[in-house]
Amino acid sequence: MTLPWLHDIEQRLTQSFKAQRFHHAQLFSGPIGVGKFAFASQLANALLCNNIAEQVAAKKSVLSACGQCKSCLLIKAGTHPDKRLTQVDGQSIGVDDIRGISDFMHHSAAQNGNKVAIIENCEKMTTAAANALLKTLEEPSQSRFLILTSSQATQLPATVLSRCAKTDVKVTNLALAQQWLESLEITNYTWLPLFYSQPLQVKYWQEQNQLQNINTLYKFATEFKQSHNFTELVAIINKQPELIRIFTLFLSEQLKQQLMQGMSFDAYQNVQHALNEFLQNNTKILGLNLPLAVSRLASVLRNN
Ligand SMILES: [Zn+2]
Repeated sequence: MTLPWLHDIEQRLTQSFKAQRFHHAQLFSGPIGVGKFAFASQLANALLCNNIAEQVAAKKSVLSACGQCKSCLLIKAGTHPDKRLTQVDGQSIGVDDIRGISDFMHHSAAQNGNKVAIIENCEKMTTAAANALLKTLEEPSQSRFLILTSSQATQLPATVLSRCAKTDVKVTNLALAQQWLESLEITNYTWLPLFYSQPLQVKYWQEQNQLQNINTLYKFATEFKQSHNFTELVAIINKQPELIRIFTLFLSEQLKQQLMQGMSFDAYQNVQHALNEFLQNNTKILGLNLPLAVSRLASVLRNN
């Protein structure tokens, strides 16, 4: 099933598919947790389905694989030879990864004739990799599809951007995301609306049993000025350093509210500066004294 906030995009793609205007290189860009990758995979699976034409005609959607043909079964087993997924391994996507895609595209297809390569987080391509990709982008074919996803598409070279059909993926109707999260029994968190534009991020936290921790971070952020014991906060961040961004986001939101309630702009800037520094130090300095950094940040907040 397509994520409810992506139905509009699904319709648009279906129309272009039916009119045979479907571009061989599709780029889906949008924030982390909006569902770009799920959408890209679903599209790839449908393009590979042996019954794609009938499915599109009957279900009126370009995203409906039949789920029963040999192709669909191979996809379920994770062994479809005509589907290739490239993800960041380490820091970047290198030129060898892209050459691998180019080889893959050149070989004949095993099933319905189509071949699909997905590149997740394609902004992580090195310059050499992006240049190598241009060749594939410049050789459109009826039966070869490239699906790119990116949460930072502005970092992509213009040469790549201009050769793709770009779709901005976002939650246009926040109520749909709210309902979807409710269907997963995720409700009643004060901070939840901050993530309505990234619902899959919240789902991920649920799967990882992180929702309580996120809630604790939120509580610390709202009571930060009054707190003196940060043991629990430090324990959570030490265990999951990536949550530091969420904690600083919560603090930033608090700060915006204080500004609207009459905090001076100078004070606001001082605290925002300290917040940025806190986040940077935490991501850059190995072995940072976290308890000290946290209590320093709290004292900046108290003094402004
Ligand atoms: Zn099928």
